Amino acid sequence: MRALWALLLVLAKGLAATNPPNIVLIFADDLGYGDLGSYGHPSSITPNLDQLAAGGLRFTDFYVPVSLCTPSRAALLTGRLPVRTGMYPGVLEPSSLGGLPLEEVTLAEVLAARGYLTGMAGKWHLGVGPEGVFLPPHQGFHRFLGIPYSHDQHTHYPQFSGQSFAGRSRRGPFGDSLMELDAAVGALMTAIGDLGLLKETLVIFTSDNGPETMRMTRGGCSGLLRCGKGTTFEGGIREPAVVYWPGHITPGVTHELASSLDVLPTLAALTGAPLPNVTLDGFDLSSVLLGTGKSPRQSLFFYPTYPDDVHGVFAVRNGKYKAHFFTQGSIHSDTTPDPACHAASPLTAHEPPLLYNLSEDPGENYNLLGVVAEITPGMLRVLKKMQLLKAQFDAAMTFSPSQIARGKDPTLQICCQPGCTPHPTCCQCPDTQG
Ligand code: MG
Repeated sequence: MRALWALLLVLAKGLAATNPPNIVLIFADDLGYGDLGSYGHPSSITPNLDQLAAGGLRFTDFYVPVSLCTPSRAALLTGRLPVRTGMYPGVLEPSSLGGLPLEEVTLAEVLAARGYLTGMAGKWHLGVGPEGVFLPPHQGFHRFLGIPYSHDQHTHYPQFSGQSFAGRSRRGPFGDSLMELDAAVGALMTAIGDLGLLKETLVIFTSDNGPETMRMTRGGCSGLLRCGKGTTFEGGIREPAVVYWPGHITPGVTHELASSLDVLPTLAALTGAPLPNVTLDGFDLSSVLLGTGKSPRQSLFFYPTYPDDVHGVFAVRNGKYKAHFFTQGSIHSDTTPDPACHAASPLTAHEPPLLYNLSEDPGENYNLLGVVAEITPGMLRVLKKMQLLKAQFDAAMTFSPSQIARGKDPTLQICCQPGCTPHPTCCQCPDTQG
């Protein structure tokens, strides 16, 4: 099953002094907020991930800045919003000329400079380029074992699990694959334990974007959240997230605001690595992890999958409130009962914005400004604050030239039958057909 097996795994082994931890960062693909047993799914079988959640810090309010693979992965690895790094609009294709610019400083490069041996396995989706110039070995990773992009970009969506998991879950093919992912995480944790490194290893698990509900039961689940992948509603951007580091992180649940953008500055702080000399959009959340303080993050800003500097951010979260200034449906969120999620729902400006209290209404069902007679002075103060936050944020943002708009060269697509014709349609690899 594509959504879960196309995961990004970063392994980093600390070689430097003063005992910085080993780091394992697992980035699932298209896994929704409601998919894990520990996040409330009634029929998923995820005992190993649930064990991580029980023994670590489980986030309830952890976000990605864009609900799509390429920009989300870029944000994780750079701590910067994708519009700053040119990783917009949409996603990179197998024949794309562009990729994550080499001058961007990745998490792997930050840790490598600190003396870490770094590796990456699974889906990359941050560009290949001529001579593979954008692949992980050129972005700070000493080792790479994986695929350059989503494997549905060979011929179709493979949704499968290994023989030992097929038909074993109570949740159909998606559940089988999720069960297999969970078992892989369990095997990884067993290996770390066998090496006697559990207390010296920091493990992070989260996902790149919400579920692909267009696949119906073969897609993921955003639980009680609205819509899924491709939208700026909560189901697209709010993710399960667990950080596990026994002996250092007290098990529990945190409601502090957090983002995948915060991973780079947080790990830099925990390892003593210097931060890159660039504008970062992430915050150091080490105080949240170690239980020594609150999150310095007060706000989150969400771009659509096809952003531009005329509309700016579509949605803003500040504290418990979220305002949607624009909304747009997505094909990735088709088939849900809510038509606002669907591709047929066009780009819509909201003036005043849709305003939700996510503490009371995480499903974004009840617009606080929906009934004029019920609008209170407190709501108006929240509205003005949200409008100011958006205006200030948009005014300060500079879009970098798009890497994805650089165009395509069909010869860049990796071919399993080199030299065949007609190229590239003849390139399908045997194990991805049928
Ligand atoms: Mg994804």
